[in-house]
Amino acid sequence: MDRALTTMSWVWVTLGIIALAAVPFTGTTGRLTAIGIAAVVCVCASYVGWQIHGVTPLYPVVMLASGAYLFTFDLPARDGDMADVSPSEAVIDVIANLVLVVGVAFAVRARRGGYSRRDVADGLTVLLGAMVVAWIAIANPLIERRDLSAADAILNGLSLPLSVILVVLIAALLASGLERNRSTVLLVVALSLNLVGDLMRGLIKSEVIDIGAADFVTAVYFGALFTAAAAFTHPSIGRAFDKRAPRISVNATHRLAVLGCCLLFPIALVAAVPGESTLDRVMRTTLTVLLIGSGSLRLLNAIRVSNRAEHELLTRSQVDELTGLPNRVQLISAIGEVLDDTWRTESRPSLMQVNLDRFKNINDSLGHELANEVLCELGARLRGLARDIGAHIARPSGDEFVILDRDAGSPAHAFARAESIHAALSEPFVVDGVSVFVTSSIGLAVVPKNRTITPEEFLRRADIATHRAKANGRNCIALFDESMQTSVTQRMDMENALYGAVERRELRLYHQPIVEIETGRISGFEALIRWRRDDGTLIAPADFIFIAEDTGLINTIGAWALLEALTELRRWINEGIVEDTTTISVNVSPRQIADPHFADIVQEALTRSGVPPHLLWLEVTESMMLSEPEIARSTLRRVRAMGVRLALDDFGTGYSSLSLLQQFPLQRIKIDRAFIQGVADRANDRSLVRTIVAMGSSMGLDVVAEGVESIHQLRVLRDIGCDKAQGYLISHPIPADAMRSTMVALSDLGSLGFFGAATRTPDAAVTQAPLPTRTSVRPGLVAD
Ligand code: C2E
Ligand code: MG
Ligand code: MG
Repeated sequence: MDRALTTMSWVWVTLGIIALAAVPFTGTTGRLTAIGIAAVVCVCASYVGWQIHGVTPLYPVVMLASGAYLFTFDLPARDGDMADVSPSEAVIDVIANLVLVVGVAFAVRARRGGYSRRDVADGLTVLLGAMVVAWIAIANPLIERRDLSAADAILNGLSLPLSVILVVLIAALLASGLERNRSTVLLVVALSLNLVGDLMRGLIKSEVIDIGAADFVTAVYFGALFTAAAAFTHPSIGRAFDKRAPRISVNATHRLAVLGCCLLFPIALVAAVPGESTLDRVMRTTLTVLLIGSGSLRLLNAIRVSNRAEHELLTRSQVDELTGLPNRVQLISAIGEVLDDTWRTESRPSLMQVNLDRFKNINDSLGHELANEVLCELGARLRGLARDIGAHIARPSGDEFVILDRDAGSPAHAFARAESIHAALSEPFVVDGVSVFVTSSIGLAVVPKNRTITPEEFLRRADIATHRAKANGRNCIALFDESMQTSVTQRMDMENALYGAVERRELRLYHQPIVEIETGRISGFEALIRWRRDDGTLIAPADFIFIAEDTGLINTIGAWALLEALTELRRWINEGIVEDTTTISVNVSPRQIADPHFADIVQEALTRSGVPPHLLWLEVTESMMLSEPEIARSTLRRVRAMGVRLALDDFGTGYSSLSLLQQFPLQRIKIDRAFIQGVADRANDRSLVRTIVAMGSSMGLDVVAEGVESIHQLRVLRDIGCDKAQGYLISHPIPADAMRSTMVALSDLGSLGFFGAATRTPDAAVTQAPLPTRTSVRPGLVAD
């Protein structure tokens, strides 16, 4: 169908060319033939455009009918007579062009959603420019050479400006997102031909060009008619008039360039063609003044709009939209000015970075909008406090506000000011009728005595101090000092080195046995990560896991640790180093559990290593379950469903809500070292551990005591009924390649008196135990 229509649209163009060459449209027959052809073209093309392409019939009907009219009406000019300049011809001519203009103007309006004042002003300037040309080239010569009255001459000259407007409107249509395809190109060609036709006709009437050129004019109009018909028949016309097409605004530079031409060309014409009569001079002067006036107004308006936009842009780039406070850009420049002043005034400015504690929680619990209101309220309160001490305030980012005090005097004075601000923030904020309590951490930096500091460095110091305040437990103030800088540098150094540590094979796992107290049998191992840096230093997890968590590297490291631990276990079982029931425990960070792919990672590690899932224990901590319970629950359920077992690590150190044990699919609790330390000597600790063990057992959980360091502790644990123990007493964590010798060294643990229900005295048992040869590993009972 589309192909047929495309062909049809080209048939119009071909027909037009053939008709032009072959049909003599002179005399009554010729005219009637021409009118007939024009009518058929008009009806057919409008029908196709409307019915098949969904173009509102108004456009094709208007465009083609007016085109057909212009074409057929102009034919007398070919009879060799003088061109018709009768008022009736001119009026009909103007009406036809006006109808066209109105039709296209509606199309533009529909696409652009209306006209702005600027559009109207531009249209007026173009119209005035075209009128100057029409006056000089058509109307005035008509008066001079064909004795027409001024009114009739102007009427005859009007169709030219209207055609110009038509072309401008089509350009606006194209610029407003009208798809540039075959049909729109054809439309532009059609209207441009119409414009050329109008211009030539005007010039013929006014005898500026020879009457013989009328043949050519007919050809041009004929071309316009058939090209418009081709446009409305072409399949692409539907897309051109599609109202859902995206709209774009007209490029201001293009617009001004068009306006410039509309000003320059008429003015050049005025200058080049000398005035012939008083009326001519009056008309030229009036039209030119109007043209220059409207052009200048337009230019002034463009300058004003651009100034306003520039100002708005500048304000936006310097002001925080939410609170209306200066943003980071303005803050930096304010700090710069204040720092410049310090040399002259010998003042000591301070920067106070106020950061809301756990703003994420506020966001999660109150929702984004109310959290934003809290920020606005906070901003307003801080603005008041800053005003009281004559300081600047800014909101450089998120939940962070900065107060720049021009002269804090001394660090002690600055600290006192920070304290009063800190206290003022502890008052609740009332948002939407709800009282919201927030706490804040404040980082304070005072300009050093030598005053050599850049604004960025000054801000960085306040930021470092804020991090220290957060690290100190939040809800407090920290004053920057040089040592903080060192620790930050160290941290950054560590962070950089940690990237790629997995690829560089700098991470390794050590393994610590977990022993059944009843039998002394090694039931499994806990894999504990170590980082051997390129300078040979061995870094404990406590010193780098938190960095890995902060940076997100923990996901890569954790996945590596999981696969590595399982692969080692597989090897030990295969080589007969451990029994095939031996388990491996792997520690998992909250951030890993939050990863939606975590369960898949576990599954992949199990598959790749070939270790049955029930031999894997994942050790999780309470923090994740408390902060993101939903995610934790669903992830843990997924891994549990695979057959993997879950242990709650460091039990007793956090909130230790008993409900956690019911809500999450846990099979083991590991009592934290802190309680085991006192289990032998402190009654309180002992009774607490007893309660935990009793509770765990009653819930069917496996209970492991962590950090068992003495025989006394082990004996108490045995008496209490604790299932398993782990600690330096039995063995320090050992590297994987020392596993064979460690297993040999630990093979006889069951025979030691303090395991199981043996009655020998523990201390004697140790000394009497057959000690294997000393190894490089550090199993506690046997090697130390
Ligand atoms: P954890 O999971 O509670 O591991 C037990 C920690 O206690 C280990 O410290 C172990 O060496 C230490 N320990 C064992 N027995 C004794 C003892 O008798 N006395 C004393 N004082 N300490 C003992 P380590 O290896 O430094 O690990 C510290 C923590 O780092 C682990 O605590 C665990 O939370 C974390 N961690 C270790 N490896 C990984 C890992 O691969 N991934 C993640 N996310 N965390 C890990
Ligand atoms: Mg652990
Ligand atoms: Mg632990």
